[in-house]
Amino acid sequence: MPNNAERTYIMVKPDGVQRGIVGEIIARFEKRGFKLVALKMVHATKEHLEKHYADLAQKPFFPGLIKYMASGPVVCMVWEGLDAVKTGRAMLGATNPLASAPGTIRGDYALAVGRNICHGSDAVESAEHEIALWFPEGTIQHTLASAEWVFE
Ligand code: ADP
Ligand code: MG
Repeated sequence: MPNNAERTYIMVKPDGVQRGIVGEIIARFEKRGFKLVALKMVHATKEHLEKHYADLAQKPFFPGLIKYMASGPVVCMVWEGLDAVKTGRAMLGATNPLASAPGTIRGDYALAVGRNICHGSDAVESAEHEIALWFPEGTIQHTLASAEWVFE
């Protein structure tokens, strides 16, 4: 039974917000058929970002990553749909934009690994963790009129 309600956490990073790519990223997920179930803009604290990126705490680029992510507001979203985590990652492209295929978000709009404009959960378990971290208030329950045209 396919999971049409899988959820992923997608975030437009400060460079994506400053460069005006928020609408483009939202448009791509909408047009693909995913359903938006949570959306907000926040200027995250370093403490919050350190929790989000806790797995990377030992990496040499960690301090620079936290500084970059705290440098301006981010747009936080939860998108729902079939295989949302894996497909969301495919839509973002490889972590290093130089390796991201053209047609992906990073492959179309970014050049440097430390300025790659968007985040996407890498597994269903991390998506659940990230959604709880960024949306403790919960997400929206609603049905899209288009659902029966998107899913079999
Ligand atoms: P992803 O965002 O694709 O899941 P990671 O979880 O490995 O990638 O890393 C988180 C973020 O840290 C990346 O999106 C990128 O902004 C930054 N990053 C990763 N590797 C490097 C690096 N070698 N140098 C600078 N920043 C990096
Ligand atoms: Mg990651």
